[in-house]
Amino acid sequence: MISSQEGRAHNAKGAIVLEDLAKPNCPTCKGLGLYKVSVELNTYDRCACVLEALKKRRSERMLQDAGMSQDLTAMTFESFQVACTAQRNFLSRTQAWIEQPLGTLIFCGSNGCGKTHLARAALNTWLASGRSGGLINLPYFFGRVRASYAQEETPDLMALTANAELLVIDELGTEYHGRTDWAKAAVYELINFRYSADLPTIITTNLGSRNGKADRGTLEKDLNRLYSLEYSNAITSRLLDRGKTEILFFNSIPDYRLLGLTEASP
Ligand SMILES: [Zn+2]
Repeated sequence: MISSQEGRAHNAKGAIVLEDLAKPNCPTCKGLGLYKVSVELNTYDRCACVLEALKKRRSERMLQDAGMSQDLTAMTFESFQVACTAQRNFLSRTQAWIEQPLGTLIFCGSNGCGKTHLARAALNTWLASGRSGGLINLPYFFGRVRASYAQEETPDLMALTANAELLVIDELGTEYHGRTDWAKAAVYELINFRYSADLPTIITTNLGSRNGKADRGTLEKDLNRLYSLEYSNAITSRLLDRGKTEILFFNSIPDYRLLGLTEASP
């Protein structure tokens, strides 16, 4: 809750211009962005239309911060090229999951199997329905978070990301090159928060895959190796929780129907 004085101060400084965020024809605030909550105390609160606009702006900024905004919109379910049975399965499972996202969806497979495309397509579908969300690429994201600590008055990127309505974590397992335990702690914080709060999360990773094959045992081994010491058990158990996580393992078995061949062909 903010007083009318504060509202004006913000406007004067240009930090938050409520009128710019408010819907011009909003029935509650008439485009002012504020409505009076107490006549005696002369206090105002930000209108729901402003909160909605702020949420949208945050998710857009998150995409920009992750450096992923340009080509993101081109990645849709329609533009996904299905070349094998595994990819057809990935596509249909992802489309079903995003309809009613529960817990975590993990794409586990080698580079080039289409997991990032599908994760972005799912996010686009979600955003198109008017909800907020974002995608982070971990190495880039942690660079941004660290840089933000050095600046004053920056938004808390970690909190913003942890609370996103839908979060896509792209390339889990690539964040440690040249980094310290700090990154492990941050990954733990993100995953644990979202797991505990039941917030929908999509993770892509090539952990758990070898030579075009991926499986649960290898994923578990890789996670334990990477998130060693105090975080390994916690991260692994959350990510492999069968009750809250669906894992799609990519195994590149050629789809003979799509290649126009029969299985008996040489
Ligand atoms: Zn309003």
